[in-house]
Amino acid sequence: MPAMQIPGPLDSVPVPRVSTPRADGRIDLIGLSRDQIREALAESQLDPRQAKLRAKQLWHWIYNRGATDFHVMTDIAKDMRGWLEQRFVVGRPQVVEAQVSSDGTRKWLLRSDDGQDYEMVFIPDADRGTLCVSSQVGCTLNCRFCYTGTMRLVRNLTPGEVVGQVMLARDSLGEWPSQPDGRMLTNIVMMGMGEPLYNFDSVRDALKIVMDGDGIALSRRRITLSTSGVVPMMARAGAEIGVNLAVSLHAVTKEIRDEIVPLNRKYGLEQLLQACADYPGVNNARRITFEYVMLKDKNDSDEDARELVRLIRKYRLPAKVNLIPFNPWPGSPYECSDPERIRRFSSLIFEAGISAPVRTPRGRDIMAACGQLKSSSEKKSRAELDRLAEEKQLALG
Ligand code: SAH
Ligand code: SF4
Repeated sequence: MPAMQIPGPLDSVPVPRVSTPRADGRIDLIGLSRDQIREALAESQLDPRQAKLRAKQLWHWIYNRGATDFHVMTDIAKDMRGWLEQRFVVGRPQVVEAQVSSDGTRKWLLRSDDGQDYEMVFIPDADRGTLCVSSQVGCTLNCRFCYTGTMRLVRNLTPGEVVGQVMLARDSLGEWPSQPDGRMLTNIVMMGMGEPLYNFDSVRDALKIVMDGDGIALSRRRITLSTSGVVPMMARAGAEIGVNLAVSLHAVTKEIRDEIVPLNRKYGLEQLLQACADYPGVNNARRITFEYVMLKDKNDSDEDARELVRLIRKYRLPAKVNLIPFNPWPGSPYECSDPERIRRFSSLIFEAGISAPVRTPRGRDIMAACGQLKSSSEKKSRAELDRLAEEKQLALG
């Protein structure tokens, strides 16, 4: 007897078509999972066995070799390559501008097919190279000290646009084929424009591609996702992505955090710290990073430092603290704490046995430093920004 169909979680959920064809009708394969590539091929009438094999080959060429031209894919028959080229592309974000800082930091302004601008930054160090990747165009969260938060337009980036940043960085660093050793791009931080946990699915799907062994193959231990505290999504981030977690704490009292990170009015400090304590896989070898921007006379007192230590202890968090000197931008309402104050703040935390390095600002001369990312031209008055912040706050509830 045929089993009755029971609707619900037991059914395999059909995956909606993620691939929106471009203006020329072709589909960009970047950002599609292996299964989605297979489906896209099957939809173009390739039989299932062929589709599976070709998807595997394409994956290798795209993510291991960095190929963007089907004609270099020598293990695929010539007429098949032509067939692919008629229907698909392997795209890259358009580069509007590329800048190099005197300290070697590089910044790219990128543009999507629909004309949205976003940025990525590469920060070379002696022992590593970190790519700072954007998750959204703009950000809805309006932290008072953040330049990105002043952008009016916000749109989620697609998985392809998130992975596209990594692909482009590797193109320009000459890092194909993908090799385990001797890489320049060794780490990824989701700390560019946007709140990654407000674009969860795309960020997850993109990072899955970045971590895939037959491809870019970056270990999850080398990837860090930074959130301003989207508490309901933190457990899922741990379970479904499993990368390192950084939390933009920035203040230790409700009053100050409400002011500088407005999301705190929705998800308070206790809830946030509890979610950190519950984050899967956290231990002494894999600590949570608390980012703390140093704002003069706002969050930088000895008392703040002591309270920070108390909270970390109270929630028994394996944690390190990253102190970020505030990077001013035109019209920013705060000043950076004095170097002496920052040193003192740092040593109070160190003395409690918690690592609290001060992050050196990089790429300041090209506005590539933390929190300075904001694409294109938009300029608004402080009054207008405050009004927008109020509106967004109301929307948050
Ligand atoms: N939206 C996420 C990730 C992007 S921001 C988040 O908020 O965590 C990356 C880091 O830069 C965050 O810790 C953010 O608070 C910090 N930041 C933003 N503006 C800054 C500024 N002007 N100076 C220094 N750090 C800043
Ligand atoms: Fe958005 Fe992060 Fe900037 Fe806050 S600090 S406005 S969450 S990008």
